[in-house]
Amino acid sequence: MMASTTTDWLDEGRIADTLARSSTVDSGQIQAILTKARELKGLAIDEVAALLALEQPDLLAAVFETARWVKNEIYGRRIVMFAPLYYSNSCCNECVYCAFRRSNRELARKTLSQAQIARETAALIDQGHKRLLLIAGESVTDAGFQHLLDAIATVYSVKRGSGEIRRVNVNVAPLSVEEFRALKAAGIGTYQLFQETYHRKTYAEVHIAGRKSDFDWRLNAIDRAMEAGIDDVGIGPLLGLADWRFDLLAMMQHIAHLEERFGVGCHTISVPRMEPALGSTMSEAPPHHVTDADFKKIVAVLRLAVPYTGIIMSTRETAEMRRDTFSLGVSQVSGGSRTDPGGYADAADAAGAAAAAAAADDAGQFQVGDHRSLDDVVRDIAEVGFTPSFCTACYRMGRTGRDFMDLAKPGLIREMCGPNALSTFVEYLEDYASPATVEAGERAIRRELDAMDPKIRHYSEIMIAKVRDGKRDVFR
Ligand code: SAM
Ligand code: SF4
Repeated sequence: MMASTTTDWLDEGRIADTLARSSTVDSGQIQAILTKARELKGLAIDEVAALLALEQPDLLAAVFETARWVKNEIYGRRIVMFAPLYYSNSCCNECVYCAFRRSNRELARKTLSQAQIARETAALIDQGHKRLLLIAGESVTDAGFQHLLDAIATVYSVKRGSGEIRRVNVNVAPLSVEEFRALKAAGIGTYQLFQETYHRKTYAEVHIAGRKSDFDWRLNAIDRAMEAGIDDVGIGPLLGLADWRFDLLAMMQHIAHLEERFGVGCHTISVPRMEPALGSTMSEAPPHHVTDADFKKIVAVLRLAVPYTGIIMSTRETAEMRRDTFSLGVSQVSGGSRTDPGGYADAADAAGAAAAAAAADDAGQFQVGDHRSLDDVVRDIAEVGFTPSFCTACYRMGRTGRDFMDLAKPGLIREMCGPNALSTFVEYLEDYASPATVEAGERAIRRELDAMDPKIRHYSEIMIAKVRDGKRDVFR
């Protein structure tokens, strides 16, 4: 097996050549790429570059139409819901775009104790969440890793009636192979790490101090995670830092490397656009701002490039942008998010609500913009024609990494994900939703059942009946 320190797969020269050639591709070649995309086997890097370079409205419309077809073919109308749980905003690094960076004196620092993490988890369970993403700054001390392991155990231990968190994902700084092994043993779902930018020079300019300034340690972190047996990994660029075409092609090289080395690429890709962050001038005016039009193109091209990889989007975007990107490719979205440690429990406590709003501004990582509750987000998703899903079945059934892909590729997964989405959505509607959301949700469920193959519909209805009858955590 190759040494985990190798980062030779990242080839800036090749990316530059591919980008230079990408705009010379004619419309006949674009049509051929789109025909290939409909085979659901993904695209090569030069094909991705050709689609990303497109500006002609008619060809772009064809890309969007193909992406909508692929999205519907594989995922149907399901959108998986999750919430981030920030448990510490202390950090030893100096990322110039982030409010958590060490030198930022404007930020109120907080590291939640296990009791506070339990309180935060309870607040999220009471909203109806089943899937959390634990997030923190990079710890200044070695105690930070044990704190993370304890946090995972704490989250899984909290029960609120039949409510519980069934999948914990993690987005923390790069770890050693040994630490990744311990993380896997703690029962995490996905390990997520954004390279921010694959462009070495830009990376050095924006990560000016701390462990994160080591580009290679971050670049091969996903290799170490996979070596340690974590086979669901999430990656992504921070959009706005560098030329996004470069970063997307570099990310394709990263995926190709993982496929070659481990037989499976990443489980999810995130597409965060840089948001304004307290005390960060760069975040107010990102050096390579991604326009709405380019953002949609990015989502659509990724959907064609890696059809079975989940695409995650924050709720920062407008309702219109969400509607467009859900149909173009996004498969997971956060709801009711806060980026300030302790923010959920404070907001749930009526007396603390005003203080919580202020804390979001002086302890949060970046401005969330969308402060709506999970209930509002779920209703909106149902009303714009999609089906919110709270499913966590695959990870709990061991359908991860390559096993997931082997199952997903022939389309079998659809037979499980569709019914699981409906049974978990009904569970949400029964236990947590407001009357308006129940109404919108029931309409979405009827629409979904009507569109199902009769056999799948039959066992979906059996699963839904069990949930309506009081059984919880019904999945296949
Ligand atoms: N500290 C760890 C790290 O940097 O990898 C993990 C947590 S960090 C809070 C998670 C991610 O937040 C970063 O990888 C970065 O992409 C994103 N982020 C930082 N500042 C941001 C901003 N101003 N807008 C949007 N995302 C930001
Ligand atoms: Fe710290 Fe992560 Fe923010 Fe950088 S992005 S300052 S490492 S929390």
